[in-house]
Amino acid sequence: MSNALPLTRPLTGSCQCGAVTYEVTEEPLAALACHCKDCQKLSASAYSTTVQVRADALKITGELKVFERTADSGRRNFAYFCPDCGNRIYHQDPEAPGMKRLKAGTLNNAPIPEPKVHVWVSRKQPWVVIPDGIPTFEEGITKDDYRKIFRR
Ligand SMILES: [Zn+2]
Ligand SMILES: [Zn+2]
Repeated sequence: MSNALPLTRPLTGSCQCGAVTYEVTEEPLAALACHCKDCQKLSASAYSTTVQVRADALKITGELKVFERTADSGRRNFAYFCPDCGNRIYHQDPEAPGMKRLKAGTLNNAPIPEPKVHVWVSRKQPWVVIPDGIPTFEEGITKDDYRKIFRR
């Protein structure tokens, strides 16, 4: 695996204040970058970067609060965050309970993987330059396209 990230095991992460910590017991998948306005709000930045992990591979220690919202697509989304410092840890689609979308910037001992796909680029900040060869989507990504890119 020449493209393997220089990871140390186990992968761990935490919120900014440290009240919530976690361990990821399997290899996280490659990352997805989302440039939608909601992701700009939630990341308090230009876009959010998430990695998909199987739900039972993410072992959380500490108490999380949940913020529930319905996206423009009609899909519900649960956002889990530290009630003390407000740091988002992961998101979950209640219709896909087997997967969690971990906020990649909360990892302690692993680099944020380079996104394999950028979605909602119609809302992208003009100064964000996406490398050649990386697939982009004007809006959201369909489940089929997602499977093709992430091969699962
Ligand atoms: Zn915290
Ligand atoms: Zn988004």
